Amino acid sequence: MSSSSGRLSRRKDLHDGRALWHDSPKRTVRTRTLRDGEAFEIVIIGGGISGAITALVLAAAGHEVAVVDRRAPGEGSTVASTAMIQFEIDTPLRELSSQIGKHDATRAYHRSARAVRDLAELIETHAIDAAWADRDALYLAGNEIGARGLAMEAEARRAIGLPSEFLNKSLVRQRFGFDVTGAILSSGSAEIDPARTSAECLRAAQRLGATVISPCAISGIESGSGGVTLETEDGKTLSCRKVVVATGYEVIGGLPRDAFDIVSSWAIATTPIAADRIWPTRCLIWEAADPYLYLRATRDNRILAGGEDSGLLDPKRRAAAVPAKSEKLIRKVRRLLSMPDLEIDYAWAGAFADSPTGLPVFRELPTHRGVFAILGCGGNGITFSMIAADVVKAWVRGRRDPDADLFLGR
Ligand SMILES: Cc1cc2nc3c(=O)[nH]c(=O)nc-3n(C[C@H](O)[C@H](O)[C@H](O)COP(=O)(O)OP(=O)(O)OC[C@H]3O[C@@H](n4cnc5c(N)ncnc54)[C@H](O)[C@@H]3O)c2cc1C
Repeated sequence: MSSSSGRLSRRKDLHDGRALWHDSPKRTVRTRTLRDGEAFEIVIIGGGISGAITALVLAAAGHEVAVVDRRAPGEGSTVASTAMIQFEIDTPLRELSSQIGKHDATRAYHRSARAVRDLAELIETHAIDAAWADRDALYLAGNEIGARGLAMEAEARRAIGLPSEFLNKSLVRQRFGFDVTGAILSSGSAEIDPARTSAECLRAAQRLGATVISPCAISGIESGSGGVTLETEDGKTLSCRKVVVATGYEVIGGLPRDAFDIVSSWAIATTPIAADRIWPTRCLIWEAADPYLYLRATRDNRILAGGEDSGLLDPKRRAAAVPAKSEKLIRKVRRLLSMPDLEIDYAWAGAFADSPTGLPVFRELPTHRGVFAILGCGGNGITFSMIAADVVKAWVRGRRDPDADLFLGR
């Protein structure tokens, strides 16, 4: 095996403002500091939801796992997430089919639908207190796809066995009270508390023998025939057989540059409202629009909304944009729900991945054998984190997940 070394991700601000989930119960995890020269079978760099789910899947399969994080676990993008768990990839099925072919697009959608079920099963098996709730999802017509386009999209999804019903203008109004030209209603989605879920997954992994080390910033990585050696910013080393890079949007080198972009998204949570004012079924709502709006309700009857994505990445400018972006979001939510009295309680921004296909990148780094990266988890990043954990598990065992080829980056 060739020997190679490289620098890991530079620290970036992954979110600004105070996210709703900063105030979640049960989101802290017992951690310890690194002892110089420690060795593990597998080290996962990053204790956000991707690293946490992967740690649990690997620990449950009997592997010796250590998760290291430069921050407290869950303090990256995970705490900023609106945590709508959907099988629907940001790129509609028909468009994805034209990009990567119908066969692969169908596989991607089926795998995504399976991942939502797999996540539900993982949560149940390990008694994870995720604040999970099964939800339908309502995809509203907008300036990117109108009612006719959504009707065709619903038909394409139904043709591959996915639950999708097209609702015309009067049906949307009758069933939800929204004034839009059409929508797709699908079952098979869910919502969670992302901060609590990732902490709970780490705690479950700890019960199965995993170690969580923080703060521990990895600054260098060297792979050779004897395994992988990691170097920390404070000059310590740790060694292992395999490394999983789950550093979210603090991207490392060695991946195709055109696989995805890092963008920013803004989010708000309103003050709690009376439960009977929330729309029927509390379905997840998102728009086929640019800029788009997505929203859900929370257990304590807040409305959580996000969108207004832009390529603005400078942390100071992103933070400075929070008031204006949150004002735009609340105006849209008030208009859609016909609730002029809604008030913002939390407003924040976070980093986000956007790829041409909407698909993330999971692959062993060509420059570092024994090092696998989970990258580019965008809109439905948490669903993709579940797929990543399975792809990693197969890789660790020298096998290949049957869908691994979908996530190599295009
Ligand atoms: C506003 C917003 C809304 C979103 N809404 C949704 C949604 O509704 N549904 C959905 O599925 N997804 C959504 N997402 C995306 C989803 O939140 C992300 O895909 C997910 O949080 C990414 O988790 P992660 O573990 O990969 O990254 P992170 O949570 O960022 O974790 C990475 C961790 O790696 C650590 N790290 C980085 N570099 C190093 C290093 N060198 N050494 C040690 N540690 C390091 C960081 O400290 C961090 O804790 C949203 C994101 C945002 C910002």
